[in-house]
Amino acid sequence: MTHYQAQDAAHHIHPFTDTAHLNQKGARVITHAEGVYIYDSKGNRILDGMAGLWCVGVGYGREAIVQAVSAQMRELPYYNTFFQTSHPPVIELAARLTSLAPEQMNHVFFTGSGSDANDTILRMVRHFWAAQGQPERQVIISRKNAYHGSTVAGASLGGFSVVHEQGGLPIPGIVHINQPYWYGDGGDLDPNEFGLQRARELESKILELGADKVAAFIGEPIQGAGGVVIPPLTYWPEIERICRKYDILLITDEVITGFGRTGEWFGADYFGIKPDLMTIAKGLTAGYIPMGGVLVSDRVFDVIANHGEFYHGYTYSGHPVACAAALATLNILESENLPQRVKSDIGPYLQERWLKLAEHPLVGEARMLGLVGGIELTPNKTKRAPFKVEKGTVGLICREHSFNNGLVMRHVGDTMIISPPLVISHSEVDELIEKATLTLDQTYAQAKDQGFF
Ligand code: PMP
Repeated sequence: MTHYQAQDAAHHIHPFTDTAHLNQKGARVITHAEGVYIYDSKGNRILDGMAGLWCVGVGYGREAIVQAVSAQMRELPYYNTFFQTSHPPVIELAARLTSLAPEQMNHVFFTGSGSDANDTILRMVRHFWAAQGQPERQVIISRKNAYHGSTVAGASLGGFSVVHEQGGLPIPGIVHINQPYWYGDGGDLDPNEFGLQRARELESKILELGADKVAAFIGEPIQGAGGVVIPPLTYWPEIERICRKYDILLITDEVITGFGRTGEWFGADYFGIKPDLMTIAKGLTAGYIPMGGVLVSDRVFDVIANHGEFYHGYTYSGHPVACAAALATLNILESENLPQRVKSDIGPYLQERWLKLAEHPLVGEARMLGLVGGIELTPNKTKRAPFKVEKGTVGLICREHSFNNGLVMRHVGDTMIISPPLVISHSEVDELIEKATLTLDQTYAQAKDQGFF
C-alpha cells in the first residue's frame, strides 16, 4: 500500500463500500483529470466511461467553470437566501434554468445535492395537498430498484431492499411497485406490451390504497444506479395518463437524465411527458461544485406560494459559488450544443457500436439511449440465465478487468453500465469500445475458467 492508500484506509470512510474489504486492498487514488480521462497516483490514464458519478457531462478541465467559480468566490463567496435576501448568481440561474426546463416549469428551489432535493420534494408534495385541505394525501408511489439518494427520504423513495434493511426504512407513506425492466422481467412479452403492464401496476396500487391517499408518483426516466433500465416507449405516457386520471402529482427524478444525457435537456422531454416536479443535480454543475434542486411547475408553485411559509431550506440553498458553476456549465452545454450533439452525432455513433456488443458470447442484451447504456452479462443468452455464483461476482470481475484496461465501467449486479462525458470524441468512443470488448473477452475466459457457466 502507498502512503495515500494507508492514510485513506486509516481515516476515510467511503460511501457504499465494504470498508474492511477495501482497506485490505487499498483504494485507487485519482489525482487529476483532463477531458474524458482520469489519472491515478500510479500514473495510469483511464477513460472515464461514467463521467465521474454520471455528472461530469462537459468533461474535466473546463477552464471557464474554474474562472467563473474563482471570480464568484472573490465577489461573494457565500450568502444565504432565507431572510428576504437574494443575490445575482441565484437570480440569474433560476431564470436560466426555468427557460431551459419544460414550459410548465417556471420555478426552482435549490438544494445541495440530489438526495436532499428529493427530501424537499417529499415535504413539498405533502404540503401541497395539505394546503388544499387534503392532508391525508400522503403516499408517494415509487419503484423497486429505483435510486433517489441516501438521505432518509431519498433512500426510502429508492427501492433497494439492501438499503431499506439498514436503518429501518422506508419511512411511512412510501410504497414501491415493479420496475419496467424488460430484460429481467419481461420474458416473452413484447417490450411495449410489457411497458404498459408495468405502468398499469401504478393504477392497481392507486386503487388498492385509495386515490384520496396518494400524493405523487416518482420515477427516474431511465433508472441509473439500478442498472440503466431503459423503459419501453409505452411506459411513461401510460404513467402520465394514470397520474392525470387520479389527479396525482408526477415527479421525474432527472438527476442523471437531466442536462443532455438523453439527447434532450431532460428525460421527460425525451419521453414526451410533462411532470409537475423534477429533481435535478449532477450535470447541473458537471460535478465541479455540489448542487441540486427541484424544478417546480406553475401548478405546484401556485399552491405553495400562496399558503404561508414553507418551513424548509438548506444553508447552501442557492449557494452563489455553486450557481456560478452551474451558469458556466449551462453556457458550455448551450454554446457547444451538447444535447443536440448527443441526439444526432455522438449518441448514434456510440449506440451503434455499443449495441453490437450484444454479439459477444457473454452478453445477453446491450441497450443504450442518448449516452447512457448497459450490457447484461449471462452464461446463456437465450435463457438470460444467471451465473452459477452469487449475483454480482462476474460483474465485479468485469469491472476489475475494465479498470485495468484503462476504462471505467461500473457494475450493478451482472449488468455493466456506462455514462461517458457528453464531450467524448469519436476516436475516444472507438477506444471505449475496444477496451470494453477486450474486457468482455477477459471476463468470459475467467468466468469459464472458474466454473461460473
Ligand atoms: N436521484 C438519482 C436518480 C440519482 O442517480 C442520484 C445519485 N446517483 C440521486 C438522486 C442522489 O443524488 P446525490 O448523490 O447528489 O445526493
